[in-house]
Formats: sequence, structure tokens, C-alpha cells
Amino acid sequence: MKVAIASGKGGTGKTVVSTSLAWLLAQDGHQVTYVDADVEEPNGHLLLRPELTEERRFSVLVPALRGNSCSGCGECQKACEFNAIVALADRVMVFAELCHSCGGCLLACPDEELIEGPREIGTLAAGFANGESKMAFRSGTLDVGEARATPLIAGLLKDVPGDGIVLVDAPPGTSCSAMEAVRDADLTLLVTEPTAFGLHDLRQTVEMCRTLGRSMAAVINRSDLGPDRVRSYLEGEHIPILAEIPFMREVATAYAHGQIVAAASAPFRDLMATVASHLLQEVKS
Ligand code: SF4
Ligand code: SF4
Repeated sequence: MKVAIASGKGGTGKTVVSTSLAWLLAQDGHQVTYVDADVEEPNGHLLLRPELTEERRFSVLVPALRGNSCSGCGECQKACEFNAIVALADRVMVFAELCHSCGGCLLACPDEELIEGPREIGTLAAGFANGESKMAFRSGTLDVGEARATPLIAGLLKDVPGDGIVLVDAPPGTSCSAMEAVRDADLTLLVTEPTAFGLHDLRQTVEMCRTLGRSMAAVINRSDLGPDRVRSYLEGEHIPILAEIPFMREVATAYAHGQIVAAASAPFRDLMATVASHLLQEVKS
């Protein structure tokens, strides 16, 4: 079973919830893979402190001229929907950051002058969290300055073994990269907070999940810090609320010290146990 943990905005506690759930389920004897797909700012490793067994660079394919026989006909430029290739008099200029690796320009070139070559955009890592053999760890890290996180997330998720429980810590927001992370999830767990910003971004995330046809459940973090608007909205949308986590100083302290919060705080652990139990019901159903 694959569960994506998502949020409309950063800072809602998504990584605290996902790392705690991963730890709790592994402690309970389940085979768990935690996947940090928040590739622009991965931080699950700060809490899980994994022992890495593999790190490798990840590349996408971008076009380049094969030789010196380009006629400058411009067919490749016309074929590119992303303005990533420009034909000059006798050569082309490729803007690799804009290229979506679709291969359209190669097909369009009448003289087969274009070839594809690799371009590194990030790093994929694999290992085990906290030495827990039952908790596998995967993460992706996008290179600084890279614009397109989606191919790296797709590459990260492609390599994740399908057995056991896979928890995907998704990027915040509703961009292409967030959609890529929740696209194949059996359930999307929305982590939100009762603020005007939280509600605004939650609405967009719910819309994204509906567009993708994903089932949803929610956790309200810092539930006592604002009015009931988020709860009312979720109830109105018939999205089950699996836990409401009040502000707890011990949670903030554990997080500040880089600890797995469920391991450090018994009240938080109990709330996460309720969420984990719901996830396990999903596995059985
Ligand atoms: S591979 Fe696709 S996106 Fe990249 S330059 Fe060619 S047509 Fe444009
Ligand atoms: S389509 Fe081929 S020949 Fe024409 S400009 Fe592009 S690379 Fe050159």
C-alpha cells in the first residue's frame, strides 16, 4: 500500500507526521519504506538519520547536435512546445533547463541531426533509517538551481519496492511535483492546520486529489491554535479526520532536537497510533 502525506503549504508538520508514522509502523513489525519526495528541500533524514547504502546521480535526456550538418531548417524549434530549442543558421541552441525530454525535436528533425544525451539534475539515495532493517529509506535531492523536480520524483518512486507499506512524504503545494508524488497513492493523508492560510491551501490540495481521483483522509495539526473552519470544511467535504493534534511543547522540543517525534512524545505517539491503525485498515480492505 502506498500512502502519500501531503500538505497545501510548507510548515504544517507533514514530515513530523510521516516520519513518526513510518517509525511507529516499523516498531509494530510492518515492512515500511519512507520516501522523501520533497526533493527541493528534503529533511526527513534529519529526523530518521538513515544509514545510506546507495547514492547515485540522476539524469534526464536532453537533445544535442550529432555533428556539423544541421541545415538550420527550424523543424525542431517548431516541434518544441516548451521553447527549449532554437534553430540558428547552421546549428541549434538547447535551453536544457526548459527541456521536458519529450523527444519531439528528434522526431521532427528531417536529417536525424539530433541525439539525446544525459543531463544530471539531482541525487537519489537509499538505505535504512536508524538501523531499522524494517524501515527502508529513500530520498531524492534536486540540484540547486534546477527548475524541474518532476522527473526526479518520478525516478525516485519508480525504484521503490512495491511490497509493504510505502509512505511518500510529498512536496507541499499543488504543482506538477506534488501531483507526481500523490498520483499513484492508494490514500493521500492531508496534513493541515486551522489557519486562514491552511484552509486556503487545503482547498487547493483537495481539488488536486479529486482531479487525480485519489482518496483522502486528514490530520489537523496544532488543532487548538485557530477556529474550527478547517474541521468544518473537511466534514463538509466528507474527508475523514484521523487525528487532531493540539499544540504540545514536547513535540516542538523533539522536532527542534531532530528526534522522531512519536518516539519522544507518548501523547503524540498515541495520536499517530490512531492514524496508523486507520492506514492498516486500508491495507486490509
Ligand atoms: S526533447 Fe522535447 S522539450 Fe526537449 S527540446 Fe526537444 S522537443 Fe523540446
Ligand atoms: S530540425 Fe534538425 S536540421 Fe533542422 S534545425 Fe533542427 S537540428 Fe537542424
